[in-house]
Amino acid sequence: DVSIALFTSDLRLHDNPVLGGALRAARRTVPLFVVDSGVAAAGFAVPNRAAFLADALAGLDEALRERGGRLVIRRGDVVEETCRVAAEAGAGEVHLAGDVSGFAQRREERLRAALEADGRGLRVHDAVVTAVAPGALVPAGKDHFAVFTPYFRRWSAESLRTVTPPPRAVHVPPGVRSEPLPDAGSLARGRPSPALPEGGEREGRRRLEAWRRDGLAGYADRHDDLPGDATSRLSPYLHFGCLSPVELVTRARQAGGEGAEAFVRQLAWRDFHHQLLAARPRAAAHDYRTRHDRWREAPEELAAWRAGRTGYPVVDAAMRQLAHEGWMHNRARLLAASFLTKTLYLDWRAGARHYLDLLVDGDVANNQLNWQWVAGTGSDTRPNRVLSPLAQARRFDPSGAYVRRWVPELAGLEGRAVHEPWRLPDRERRRLAYPEPVVDLTDALARFRRARGLE
Ligand code: FAD
Repeated sequence: DVSIALFTSDLRLHDNPVLGGALRAARRTVPLFVVDSGVAAAGFAVPNRAAFLADALAGLDEALRERGGRLVIRRGDVVEETCRVAAEAGAGEVHLAGDVSGFAQRREERLRAALEADGRGLRVHDAVVTAVAPGALVPAGKDHFAVFTPYFRRWSAESLRTVTPPPRAVHVPPGVRSEPLPDAGSLARGRPSPALPEGGEREGRRRLEAWRRDGLAGYADRHDDLPGDATSRLSPYLHFGCLSPVELVTRARQAGGEGAEAFVRQLAWRDFHHQLLAARPRAAAHDYRTRHDRWREAPEELAAWRAGRTGYPVVDAAMRQLAHEGWMHNRARLLAASFLTKTLYLDWRAGARHYLDLLVDGDVANNQLNWQWVAGTGSDTRPNRVLSPLAQARRFDPSGAYVRRWVPELAGLEGRAVHEPWRLPDRERRRLAYPEPVVDLTDALARFRRARGLE
């Protein structure tokens, strides 16, 4: 009479149907996390997310111990290890969150087959990783929604399951072997960014409360204010499942008002990209809409972009924020991605890879499909719009405070010069030790329009 709750992207006790299902199914439950060798092999184990994951696992173990249980850690192939634990503990059922990537879908299939071969069962729970399960909303005659607005209409009408409290007690069967909790260094090689958020459910909930109290109401007006930094910064907690998307949507709806509505809409974007990837796992690496773009190859320009040395201050600020915090403001992600794909006309995959190497919230569904949205190979209904870095800077960082924060070479410039250092007199410009623009914007726009056959 034993079950297993296999944790994946749901590292929480609050509102977790996987853990809840496993606890209801048997008198004793093994809360299990497998440090999956497949994640590292896929290049997805990077220092910034490793640091957050290590925090989250330690927090989960602590919270389980407060309830009489503990977290069992294993290392290796997730399917083999889970089957091994099931055999050791005599578990009849494994509970798992439904997830969307090709990787997650194969994991689920393999796990089901392996467990069934041993006479055990797999129970997959929906609406754990997303608020609405990817397969729950399907338009007539199609397998997924390709455009956000009609999706959002349907999504908004869907009723969500009731948010559940954390369990009071967890009874783990005796004798199940566990490896020690992993530290960041054992999960990924390399040095994490200097200013990462602390990971885990407790910190996530603390931030959620602060956000509800201080941020939510003003979100509709302030979400695009680059220096104001007035978004929730809950994305890493959502990525690792330290917070439940169902709970976030439910509580925002209870709060009500314009800010909450705008916030819920962003959470729907998250679900939208997940349902798109669930239906088209290939879109992680291939154009969602094939456009036959022949992207340029320019390794030096790509390197300048990565390093935050393009000579366009707002782009460089964005890239340096990413390197320092493992996080970027959504507006910064947009304008830096547009700069790479449309201004430099370089392949979105190279940019997406760099974001995934650093983002603490780095997520195949959100990252790859937002990149494709920006590159015009995805679900944007205006695939050829180009965001000018200068216009973006003037509109979303009018005071230049965002640039001054992240590009110290320019911190002493006053007024608009901070966005256009190339206009300064030669002598002043040389003193800045800041690069010349890597490309001329007018030439770049003409090149893009030619490449897309727009003239
Ligand atoms: P808030 O503005 O507070 O929004 C609340 C939540 O809504 C976010 O935490 C996030 O879960 C969701 N959300 C907001 N905007 C989007 C969006 N456009 N698409 C999907 N979900 C959204 N988000 C990731 O979580 N992981 C990624 O790897 C990722 N890569 C991106 C790459 C590009 C090129 C772009 C343009 C966007 C990307 N985003 C990604 C979406 C978005 O930028 C971040 O979710 C957001 O900036 C996180 O900050 P926040 O939590 O303060 O967001």
